[in-house]
Amino acid sequence: MVQNSDVVYSATQHIDRLMRRVVLLMFGAGVLAVLAIWHMEAADGTIDAIDRVGYPAMVIVFSVSLVALWRVPRVLATVRWLGFLTITLLLMLDLWNQTHMPGPLLDNYNSLTLWNWLPLCYAMAFFMLAPRHAFLAAAAMLAFFAACTLLRTTAHTPYAAQDRSLMLNTLISHAVLVVCLTGMVWLKHVVTVQGEQATRLNLLAATDPLTGLANRRLTLQLLDQLARDGRLDLAPVVMLCDLDHFKHINDGWGHAMGDQVLVAVANALRASTRDADTVARWGGEEFLIVLPVSRDVDASALAERLRARVEALQVADRHQCPVPVTLSIGIAPLAAGESGSSWLKRADEALYRAKNDGRNCCRVAEPPEA
Ligand code: GH3
Ligand code: MG
Ligand code: MG
Repeated sequence: MVQNSDVVYSATQHIDRLMRRVVLLMFGAGVLAVLAIWHMEAADGTIDAIDRVGYPAMVIVFSVSLVALWRVPRVLATVRWLGFLTITLLLMLDLWNQTHMPGPLLDNYNSLTLWNWLPLCYAMAFFMLAPRHAFLAAAAMLAFFAACTLLRTTAHTPYAAQDRSLMLNTLISHAVLVVCLTGMVWLKHVVTVQGEQATRLNLLAATDPLTGLANRRLTLQLLDQLARDGRLDLAPVVMLCDLDHFKHINDGWGHAMGDQVLVAVANALRASTRDADTVARWGGEEFLIVLPVSRDVDASALAERLRARVEALQVADRHQCPVPVTLSIGIAPLAAGESGSSWLKRADEALYRAKNDGRNCCRVAEPPEA
């Protein structure tokens, strides 16, 4: 039986693997980008005091993170945080530094390139944090930028007016970017939540709540599909199973014990069949087993094993008295050109014969009449 948690677990693993690749790629590209900028600024003499420390620091942090993540995948979260904090801290320090820079900002190559890197911090925040926290982190960065803008443009310098329009323009464009990112991430969040709800509802609609087996609705679709495909070479088989004298169990031991028996039988049937086979709760105390491929198994022998396994179940009441559980099974291999309903009807007829022959036995269906 596929559990909800299995699906979620494998999806999480898949996202983690994907995320690791993306972060590896980002760190690789980051090292190359910092090296290139460092080289260019050192060559034309525009490198400032913070960058002289910041560039080597970034190269070291990124390279160490890259190797660590490569060798030990589980450091992903730590490494992501390290990268995010290093870049954000250095950029904020740089931003602070330039509020005290002599001369107009427009003439300063470093300050303009610095602002180009700030969107990376907003994007990383949205990439790593929950939407609300990412929005708060991005808003904090913007607030810091706004404070630097205020400080710089209210200072009594001859170029304050010129800096004001430049900084305000950048600030507004960054705010627009953060709003867009928030909108996108929020939209994704809504779509994901709705998708998860739909998956949960589908799973609920397809599952029997007591036994966790597939329910009748889902199994009918499968039967019709197999009948339509008509792959007789794969030898599809259905087995209709009905608990014998189940009413006696309910009447003698109570409904709760009846439920306990149903769960025990469901588990036994599931444990004795392959993952590719479907075991469904067909109705009250009836189960339908669908083998889409049975050419490599002897279906009659399998049915006999299932019957014996159910008979051997050790269900006991609260006085440790055994509750007798037996099963009758009707087996029907798919015949050429027949519909899903005809296939089922033949399995039902075979089950009826098993009941008439004294119960606790298996019978194979007659071929359909020509
Ligand atoms: P037979 O050997 O001919 O199949 O006899 P039976 O008693 O098993 O069959 P019958 O159809 O007379 O009774 C089936 C009983 O299954 C009746 C119903 O109350 C009970 N039942 C159906 N669904 C559930 C359920 O979910 N839990 C419990 N405890 N009982 C159920
Ligand atoms: Mg019945
Ligand atoms: Mg019954």
